[in-house]
Amino acid sequence: MFERRCRYCEQVFQPSKFQPGQSVCSGSDCQRRRRSENRHRKIASDPEYRQVCQDSSRKWRARNPEYWRRRRESNPAIVERNRQQQRVRDQKRRLRDLANNNSAFDLTHSAAQVWLLGAGLEHLANNNSARAQIWVLEALPPRRGPQMESCQQQRSGLDAASVG
Ligand SMILES: [Zn+2]
Repeated sequence: MFERRCRYCEQVFQPSKFQPGQSVCSGSDCQRRRRSENRHRKIASDPEYRQVCQDSSRKWRARNPEYWRRRRESNPAIVERNRQQQRVRDQKRRLRDLANNNSAFDLTHSAAQVWLLGAGLEHLANNNSARAQIWVLEALPPRRGPQMESCQQQRSGLDAASVG
């Protein structure tokens, strides 16, 4: 008898004499993983099998129309996760569009220092002609001059007034 190491859990096991090529132990987690990977491999390589799987899941959805709605209702975390994943996909797409857009200015040569990405900017985007949720802000030189001085003058003037 010879022993082998499971390629998932790395435990030593004895292959079945009926399956001398066995590379996964008989543990239920490892077997589940093996079946799942086999299925994905077959779907990727066999168009006919892929069609059968698609048809059967379409039939299943038709027979169980309430399943996903109930699942979403019973688990708000799923809904939130889907929403976040969709947001990330949208942002990636927009970045890709921006990168592919020839009319976009050359980012490498701009003085941009701040990039804001996020859902909170939807509001801003809606109030402007921009259709993206991405804002590139160029740095401005720090404000100096008459405005600052007049502020200080005014404040010291107030202080003087409150003291006096
Ligand atoms: Zn295993």
